[in-house]
Amino acid sequence: MATRVAPSMTGYLHLGHLYHLLWVYAYAERMGVPVCLRIEDHDRSRARPAYEKALFADLAAFGMAWRGDVLRQQDDVTFYDQQVAMLQDAGLVYGCACSRRELADLQLAGAPELFYPGRCSEKKLPLEGHTVRFRVGPDRMRFKDERLGWQEHVPAQQCGDFAIRDRTGQYTYQFCCVCDDIQQEIRHVVRGEDVLPSTGRQLQLFHAFDAPAPTYLHHPLLCDEAGNKWSKRQHAVSLRSRLEKGVSPEQLLAEAVGLHQPISLATALECVTGQLNQSAS
Ligand SMILES: [Zn+2]
Repeated sequence: MATRVAPSMTGYLHLGHLYHLLWVYAYAERMGVPVCLRIEDHDRSRARPAYEKALFADLAAFGMAWRGDVLRQQDDVTFYDQQVAMLQDAGLVYGCACSRRELADLQLAGAPELFYPGRCSEKKLPLEGHTVRFRVGPDRMRFKDERLGWQEHVPAQQCGDFAIRDRTGQYTYQFCCVCDDIQQEIRHVVRGEDVLPSTGRQLQLFHAFDAPAPTYLHHPLLCDEAGNKWSKRQHAVSLRSRLEKGVSPEQLLAEAVGLHQPISLATALECVTGQLNQSAS
């Protein structure tokens, strides 16, 4: 039983990430479970060693520890390959030859995300050299979010058969995420509200693997004074550069929870627990 932090190695952490980390650690404390660490570097074209080095320095500065070995997605794809083979045996994946351009032309105006209409689902194309897609079921996926209450997602209407590996062999975020949660025996997932709509499709993957699905808690996203979400800010000032300029970790912890005077990690966690209690009541 554990929860996890899984920062993406495509940039430096900023205040929005710190707020997210506080939610993970606050929830771990409440549930009495350890936090595992995963380096999300499945995107080989964007992951940089400098980001990983900064991540470890940031976690140390805030006094955030983790349990067990660090899982790096790029280190070993054997498990991912095995899981794909399992899905293939069950007839749950197929090769897709559609280009990004072709798919863009098939989209309805105003759709919230890319929808795949299943054009290649009966073509029996090989998986090698093609995009590998997961056949989503028609089911409505219901789950109780630990903060938001009951949710219902229908992947067949939201995204259709989604990609789990691109044609170059690189695994996708959704797929790695579920496989890693299985490998690290994660039973509680804490993540931002921005990714809430993808929970149903992850649950379908857990079911396909016959693996226990974790509980989910989706937290609000941190906004700046102007109401803009930190997660959407392309050039948000990194924690690293502010720490290097002499800003204290305690000051950054205060800012992450909307306070002005420097606070300890324990106090910051109490603030977030307070927000959790408020929204759950
Ligand atoms: Zn296709």
